[in-house]
Amino acid sequence: MPKQKASRKQLKSYRLKHIDRTIQEGDAVLMRSSEPGKPSYVARVEAIDTDARGSNAKVRVRWYYRPEESMGGRRQFHGAKEVFLSDHLDLQSADTIEGKCKVHSFNSYIKLDSVANDDFFCRFEYNSATGAFDPDRVAVFCKCEMPYNPDDLMVQCEECSEWFHPSCIGKTIEAAKQLDHFYCEECAPQQHNLLSSNSTSAKVNAKRSLEVTKTRTKHNKRSS
Ligand SMILES: [Zn+2]
Ligand SMILES: [Zn+2]
Repeated sequence: MPKQKASRKQLKSYRLKHIDRTIQEGDAVLMRSSEPGKPSYVARVEAIDTDARGSNAKVRVRWYYRPEESMGGRRQFHGAKEVFLSDHLDLQSADTIEGKCKVHSFNSYIKLDSVANDDFFCRFEYNSATGAFDPDRVAVFCKCEMPYNPDDLMVQCEECSEWFHPSCIGKTIEAAKQLDHFYCEECAPQQHNLLSSNSTSAKVNAKRSLEVTKTRTKHNKRSS
């Protein structure tokens, strides 16, 4: 008869002595990469257990994928701190946790005043077997019809309120920051896009101030 497996204790939280932090179910954590020189993995703690004596702690984690780890790879609209919540679960030793981190919703992330090393954001869930994303449609902006990359500066047309990348309206980022007024091609076909005046400043999203409230959608093809 096989030996009875030693029973393990499920814990709601656990003190990680090596980093002097307490982890709980639902926390986002950074885990040591198996490949030297690679950035830490980002994961969500789903469950924690130890052996009957309270040692040999293990965490069941759900991996967050970085864009470059997904089948479609990193695309232009992916933010530097973007991660996808995957369906890929793993059992890991709690010793491999290097620290805690924060995975914000997209809307919370763009409201952050500053982004720390341990700040990430997630707007997609990712199926690691098929490479599919959920949602598979997102709001798109600009003539290029791209989803919003919160790292990119955009300018807003004062007439139609659409947002544009400086490069898509033939401007450098520096020139876009200097704009007093901005009307897009459709709203100001005669004006060559620009009117100058000193009264007010054109709306330029100084990184992360753009709220994504638009519902216009475009099928977002993920296969490269
Ligand atoms: Zn564009
Ligand atoms: Zn316009």
